[in-house]
Order: sequence, then structure tokens, then C-alpha cells
Amino acid sequence: MTEMQTSTDAPTQISDVTGETILQVDNVTKRFGSGAVAVTAVDGVDLRVRRREIVLIMGPSGSGKTTLLSVLGGILKPTSGRVQINGTDITEMTESQLTKIRQKEVGFVFQSFNLIESLSTIENVEVALNFAGLTGRKARARATDLLSDLGLGDRLHFKPRDLSGGERQRVSIARAIANNPALILADEPTANLDSKRGQEVVLLLRDLAKQQDRCVVIVSHDRRIVDVADRIWWLEDGRLADHQASGATAPSSNGS
Ligand code: ADP
Ligand code: MG
Repeated sequence: MTEMQTSTDAPTQISDVTGETILQVDNVTKRFGSGAVAVTAVDGVDLRVRRREIVLIMGPSGSGKTTLLSVLGGILKPTSGRVQINGTDITEMTESQLTKIRQKEVGFVFQSFNLIESLSTIENVEVALNFAGLTGRKARARATDLLSDLGLGDRLHFKPRDLSGGERQRVSIARAIANNPALILADEPTANLDSKRGQEVVLLLRDLAKQQDRCVVIVSHDRRIVDVADRIWWLEDGRLADHQASGATAPSSNGS
């Protein structure tokens, strides 16, 4: 695809993944509500993802993808089971401990970008740095570097509404990696992008793992992510199955 793509072409190749475990998930279940109206959105999921690894989770709408990602990143507490990030068990943490983990250890990338519309590009990234304790000129310099690296050096003072979808997603990726988290969680990151911008975001996510030594978990229907993923899982009714073993056929790309 590009000259940068080398050994990661094969969809299920894991030979260049040698890092330590960053994300460990043991028998995680998430249930909403109780009694007759209870919904088991995530059902007994086990997962282990290492540094430099890209894992793709595919599954139909309502299969529990967003709920699972939210549990992995400490946005939602599991009903049972255990989640460890970088060796730290987050399962029993208080809300304020979880907030710190989310700020420092996890970068989230959302389908809808989730930028603050009233703030400029650089301010959106600075806010993330400020929450984690970096302020003033140091924060401004770091935000400038991150955005410049992502090709947004001439968009620093634009508001989100004046950016293209692809640019907005790049701002959200800059924000996600601002505090240098080991774990990146992306929920349908290309769903609102045209195919060229979607492809750029796919390659950026690959670089976060392969060049920047992070662990990347992506939930998506996008066929192009299949091409960069080390492992692919299939989620159905909250249960995770190996994509190949399950024989499931993934839906075609919705990235156009
Ligand atoms: P996906 O992202 O794969 O579309 P979700 O994780 O959003 O799936 O939802 C999985 C299931 O959990 C769905 O049946 C959904 O209705 C249910 N669900 C999600 N969030 C909540 C909630 N806050 N309260 C009750 N049910 C929920
Ligand atoms: Mg979802």
C-alpha cells in the first residue's frame, strides 16, 4: 500500500509482535439492568494484547463492541471479571483512580471524534495534557509537536468545524497519544471518513503500534483494518471468538 508497509501486510502475522502484555482481560462480563430486562452486553471475554500489537474486533451492531471497549478503558466497570492495564488491575479502582488511568494510560479514539467544538485544534490537545498535569508553555510545545507530526502544523488555530473529517480524526489521535499511553482503544475510527481519509487513519493507527510501540485495540467493520491487524476477533452476543476459527464472514467495508 505504501512504501512504509513492510512486514505487517499479512492479516494475521504476529511474528514482529514481541512486546510485553499491556492489556489483560480475564472472564469479563458486563450486564446492564437486572431481572427480566437485563442485557448481557459482554459475556465472559478473555483477551491479552501485547505492545506493538494491533487487535481488531469485528461484530454486528449491538454485539457489545462499544461496551467491551468501554470496560477495557475503565469507562465502564465490569459486572464480573478482571481488567489489567500495563500490569495494574483497574477492576476495583475508585472513580478518581480510574480517571487518572484513563488520562495517563489509555488513549481513546472515537467514531465521532469527540472534540470540544469551542476550542481550537491545539487547545483540544492541550486540555488532555492539562488534565494529566502538563500545563503552560510545555503543554503548548508538546501539543504543537504532536499536531505537526500528524501533518496539522498549519491547522493549530482552526476550530473543529473548519477541519475535514480526516483532520478532525487526526486531532483526536493527537489528543489520544498526548500523555503517551501504552494502550490505544479505537471505536469505529474510520466510520465517518471517506475512503482516502479512512485509509490515512488506518495507517496512523498502525504506526501507533509498530513505530511508537503501543498496543492498539480497534473495533470496526472496516475491511482495510483487516490488512493491518495482527489478530482479528469476532464478537457476537458479547462473546469473543477467533475470527478464523468461527468461520464468520465480516461485513464489507463501510469506509466509503
Ligand atoms: P455495539 O457497539 O457492538 O453496537 P453496544 O456495546 O453498544 O454494541 O451494545 C451492546 C448491547 O448492550 C446492546 O443490546 C445495547 O442495547 C446494550 N447496551 C449498551 N449500553 C447500554 C446501557 N447503558 N444500558 C442498557 N443497555 C445497554
Ligand atoms: Mg458501538
